[in-house]
Amino acid sequence: MFKKARSIPTELVILRILDYRTDLSEKEKQQLSKKEKGYEGELKFDTLINQLDTLVINDLLLEVGDTLFQIDTLIIFYGRIYLIDVKNFAGEYCYDTGMFKTITGSEMKDPLLQLNRCHSSLRQLLQKYGYNLPIEAYLVFINPDFTLFQPSQHPQIILPTQVNSFIKKLYKMPSKLSDKHLKLADLLVSLHKTENPYVRLPKYNYDTLKKGMTCGSCHSFDVAVSRSKLTCGDCGCEERVESAVFRHVDELRILFPDIKITTNLVYEWCKVINPKKKIRKILLKKFALHGHGKYSYFVDDSDDLV
Ligand SMILES: [Zn+2]
Repeated sequence: MFKKARSIPTELVILRILDYRTDLSEKEKQQLSKKEKGYEGELKFDTLINQLDTLVINDLLLEVGDTLFQIDTLIIFYGRIYLIDVKNFAGEYCYDTGMFKTITGSEMKDPLLQLNRCHSSLRQLLQKYGYNLPIEAYLVFINPDFTLFQPSQHPQIILPTQVNSFIKKLYKMPSKLSDKHLKLADLLVSLHKTENPYVRLPKYNYDTLKKGMTCGSCHSFDVAVSRSKLTCGDCGCEERVESAVFRHVDELRILFPDIKITTNLVYEWCKVINPKKKIRKILLKKFALHGHGKYSYFVDDSDDLV
């Protein structure tokens, strides 16, 4: 059971939008591709464990002392906690005496060191709240195209050919949970931080972003808008105008969390919808109008309920 489901990381959502609304540099494109692959690997792992009859908490950002630490997947079993970091690397790598390198010799951040730091922080946090469940930490390399050369097998490293037996082991773990386990899961979810100061995004601003509606499937700007439909000239995908407008409002809100959603703003962002009052009519279906006249803006009242 997923106590906290995985959502698309905000950093990835923003990079995806910037990819079609600006010209990303090569480095930024690499950052996007790395994020896409990482997320894809995590989803793949989620699929493998989604029938586990225990508590699974995904994507936690926690703090102990002055240390922030991120957890991909945490599984609470009856007698222990599993801390799992999924890597979707492809290609050949070497791991020896704490050095993690590509086959060509470029040294990378040691993922095992990061995992063990995370392990230690989690242990401290649990002790602070009076929990002494043992924690086991594993690094799971999920991509079948990954090879790791190492002098001897490291017990915390799960290679692609070992993933199936690792998953089988998880399904055999005792999972009868008590109130104490449920309370622990609630506690961890309540301690999750939503603001991640480590997120590094390319700089962008409203004026320089390419305006216009895009296809929801392939993000082409070659779209035609009829009375009720948006049709993509590239992939043929069709979407109701209303949902396409809401999708574009979501883009604005994620790119610029403090921006005031006004008819003029959405009109300028979407470009292809006329007349302007059609935008206003659509926005009124989902958002509440605050203020008057030219100072009015739309607010999503459901945000207040969170
Ligand atoms: Zn398309």
